[in-house]
Amino acid sequence: MDNKFPGKDISDEDIKTKFPLASKKNSGHKSKFKIAGVEFGGSDLPIFAGPNMVETKELIFDVAKNVKKIGAHFLRGGAFKPLTFPYRNEKYNETREEGIKWLGLAKEKYNIPIITEVMEEKYLPMICEVADILQIGSRNMQNYPLITAAAKTQKPLMIKRHYGSSLRDWLGSAEYALIEGNEKIILCERGVSVPHTHRSTSRFLLDLQVVPAAQEVTHLPIAVDPSHATFWRSWVAPMTLASVASGADGIMLEVHPDPTNSAVDPLQPIDYQEFSNLFKQINSLKKTLSKID
Ligand code: PEP
Ligand code: MN
Repeated sequence: MDNKFPGKDISDEDIKTKFPLASKKNSGHKSKFKIAGVEFGGSDLPIFAGPNMVETKELIFDVAKNVKKIGAHFLRGGAFKPLTFPYRNEKYNETREEGIKWLGLAKEKYNIPIITEVMEEKYLPMICEVADILQIGSRNMQNYPLITAAAKTQKPLMIKRHYGSSLRDWLGSAEYALIEGNEKIILCERGVSVPHTHRSTSRFLLDLQVVPAAQEVTHLPIAVDPSHATFWRSWVAPMTLASVASGADGIMLEVHPDPTNSAVDPLQPIDYQEFSNLFKQINSLKKTLSKID
């Protein structure tokens, strides 16, 4: 169906002229690529796990060791954080360059690849020395100069969906990366803002319909982050399983040894035991799903 006016719907014309690189060339076409030996878009289900923030060296080492042992493919954690409010205190402080160094040391010591957020172009060379995937956070989904600069490094990128953006806008952001010749682009749904959520602490609503919807039009892998979406620890496991059932090509999870004392968003991380249980449930769900495929 054609759009006469710009809107949220994706028209055939959009597919041809607005995001030809992000669009599927034919039905069933799906990108497959490896990052640090982990296959995206294939039968593996890459899991990114770690704290919201790289708080201390001890914390990131402990998490790296434990999530690796449980089976995570990537260690996540922000050293540069787009915190919603500008105030900082000792606990609630970005570790920035130091945090990136600790991620690098944890990667070496525990042999686990890294995904971390980049917020400013000037830090790209330093972050690229450590990161296996550069995360473009929701708040920067439409920061086109940042996406362009990050894509030009040819490091794989994960572009998180802005919580107010349509699928059409999200694919526009992916196109900015693809046009730089960078083919290792992952998209990540992380919850959208809606007028009504189930409780006042739930900031976002996980849009799982966007997984099949995106997969219909793009060949790029679509990951899901149920931690940021639910903002509520006990909902993370059920929504992770729902994400897997929806066809997600990757799962990002916040994991912290002591969730309630997480420096950032202490309501949402799961602990090691919960991650371990969930990891097993993910694998058994995958087996069940493969039988009904
Ligand atoms: C994060 O993953 O650390 C993060 C800040 O997520 P988002 O950009 O989706 O809010
Ligand atoms: Mn957060």
